[in-house]
Amino acid sequence: ANLYGLDSWGTGLLDVTEDGELALRLPQEPDTKATSLPAIMTALAQRGINAPMVLRVQPYLDAALERLNLAFARAMADNQYNGAYRGVFPIKVNQQAEVVSHLARSGKIYHYGLEAGSKPELMVALSQPLSSEALLVCNGYKDEDFVRLAILSGKLGRKTVLVIETPEEFEIILKVSRELGEKPMLGVRVKLTERVGGKWEASSGDRSTFGLGARELVAMIARMRETGFLECLVLQHSHLGSQVPDMIDIRRAVSEACRFYVELHAMGAPLTHIDFGGGLGVDYTGFQEAEDNSVNYTVEEYASNVVETLRYALEEADLPHPDIVTESGRYVVAQSSIFIFNVLGATLYDQPKPPELKPDDHHLLTDLMAVAGYVDGRRLREALNDAVYYRDELRALFRRGQIDLEQLGRAESAFLYLASRFKTAMAQDNQHHVALADFTDHYHGNFSLFQSLPDVWAIDQLHPMMPLQRLNEMPTRQAIFSDITCDSDGKISKFVTADGPADALPVHDLRQDEPYHVGVFFVGAYQETLGDLHNLFGDANVVTISLDGNGGFAIEHETEADSIWEVLSYVEYDPRDCLDALRREAEAALAAGRLTPLERRQIIEAYKKALAGHTYFE
Ligand code: PLP
Repeated sequence: ANLYGLDSWGTGLLDVTEDGELALRLPQEPDTKATSLPAIMTALAQRGINAPMVLRVQPYLDAALERLNLAFARAMADNQYNGAYRGVFPIKVNQQAEVVSHLARSGKIYHYGLEAGSKPELMVALSQPLSSEALLVCNGYKDEDFVRLAILSGKLGRKTVLVIETPEEFEIILKVSRELGEKPMLGVRVKLTERVGGKWEASSGDRSTFGLGARELVAMIARMRETGFLECLVLQHSHLGSQVPDMIDIRRAVSEACRFYVELHAMGAPLTHIDFGGGLGVDYTGFQEAEDNSVNYTVEEYASNVVETLRYALEEADLPHPDIVTESGRYVVAQSSIFIFNVLGATLYDQPKPPELKPDDHHLLTDLMAVAGYVDGRRLREALNDAVYYRDELRALFRRGQIDLEQLGRAESAFLYLASRFKTAMAQDNQHHVALADFTDHYHGNFSLFQSLPDVWAIDQLHPMMPLQRLNEMPTRQAIFSDITCDSDGKISKFVTADGPADALPVHDLRQDEPYHVGVFFVGAYQETLGDLHNLFGDANVVTISLDGNGGFAIEHETEADSIWEVLSYVEYDPRDCLDALRREAEAALAAGRLTPLERRQIIEAYKKALAGHTYFE
């Protein structure tokens, strides 16, 4: 199982049973018994819940939240820091009611709050039972309705902070606040000049979209003072970025934010909170490197660097310690969801037997087959080059009408036979594994990349991936995965392995009538709502489970996959009208004698059944 790097990225979360099944562990409880994922899939299938599905593991969510809060608690204790940590969950990272409500409930002991970046997210946040100490941080564009709701929520005892993103926004807040006769809790978003690395580098630094630069900040403080609102400015916000790979970048950005904090204080802002936004990354590969899909630090290092940097800055300026806020969403939710799909079939780029040649076959076909005579370690590269050359020449002959389809078929068979010989030889001689990419098998997965793994398509996100079963059997194939959309972009062709990123994943030969499930891990952040309806594939099933530490599990929540009826409605079809149109057409065909009454019934029943069914292969 460690072919897949499980020991690096899966430590503490996943295990392999004696039967070679991948199993979920209760985090932080090494003495408990893990729960087999294939056993979960079987138990769910008995209830009629099948792949593709998102499996949410509630203990993983709780564990991440606890680890984040403990990391800050320890860092604060180690640094004699007097303020508190008041994390908030940015709703945009996973808006699903099940996730947000669970975090709100289980986060109460940490006074965990929420971050809203839009009006709908504010509505969600206001519906959640947060602790009275928890913050509700409002970022993003805010119109009068947004501002009114936020200010009035203060009357309910909510600690709602309106973070000013632009100079114009303050004028809206001023107007609404005066109308209501209520003063808000205000924050200001500071645009840092330090850039941080990673996929979102362009959204950091002084050319980023949001926040106020030094010049605008000075003007804003003057305007707040002049209007009597400076006393409301309690929070400084500076979003560091998302998935920042390098700790040094974080330190530099935090350090700059601290300088702003000290200066704003000196200008009379009564700040009590400093918010560092997002940025705390997830090690998707387990490589622990400062590169796009990994990070070179742990959450404990992140917390201690933030606290230490801040404490130094405050000590120098002789300022009291503010509460620290971070909006770490990816860290809290990424690991909690696993996307699981079943493999429907495979296109194998090899064939065990050579084709039988005919006496009148073209001599290039004989030459192609002759390559089989020197497929060995020393001449492997030469054999490979020759095979590709002869195969391509034969294809050219076919295009020019010089060989027929049957001969071309034999040429392709000969090439696939050589491919199987190459694969065996390459497996025995690792030096040549680079050339394997030409013969990688295609496994066809029952999923839509665009719906369930949009970041893999959009930003080359790497998620760890591996089969859930047969992990005590050496994989015999190297595959990439295509989805069931009719889009050639719908494929996964970069993988995490123990040796680093790879162009193929080791997999087993498929067996007749035996499901082969593959898990894609760490998909809890951003994927669910960014996904789209390409080819009208809708949401997959979502099942939230808890683990009992004794090999068992319980379903905590279940959301059935979109039906075709629902998906058609999303794109403005009325399924009833669609059905009516078909009825009319069938009736006309019946009247014209092209359809019997029984056939009319069959086609209408088939259509109705499909409307009620799911969008994936069933
Ligand atoms: N806060 C703000 C303002 C953001 O824009 C984002 C996302 O980019 C986050 C928090 C979440 O950050 P992360 O992806 O590091 O969890």
